[in-house]
Amino acid sequence: MMRDPYEPFGGEPDDIAGFTAQDLDGRTVDEQRAAAIADCQLCDENGYRTGATRCDHIDHAAIAERHRAEIAAQLAEIRARKEPPTETTDRSS
Ligand SMILES: [Zn+2]
Repeated sequence: MMRDPYEPFGGEPDDIAGFTAQDLDGRTVDEQRAAAIADCQLCDENGYRTGATRCDHIDHAAIAERHRAEIAAQLAEIRARKEPPTETTDRSS
């Protein structure tokens, strides 16, 4: 693979020559990545989502959906706190 002369050490860590990290199962980085891509429903076979976005294999939309009720409750609480009191109190005197 050609290196970018302006960024010779750029790119993915596993692209750097001699880097042979393995996980506890003895899988190489390439094997781990392939497995993550295979398990992921969000990206194509190269690990990219639509619009050339690199996939982190985390379904952020699903996480947001799971916490939606909690977020809505907190927003309602904040809104209630910020709302002016319904009774007008005369503070001028
Ligand atoms: Zn993915």
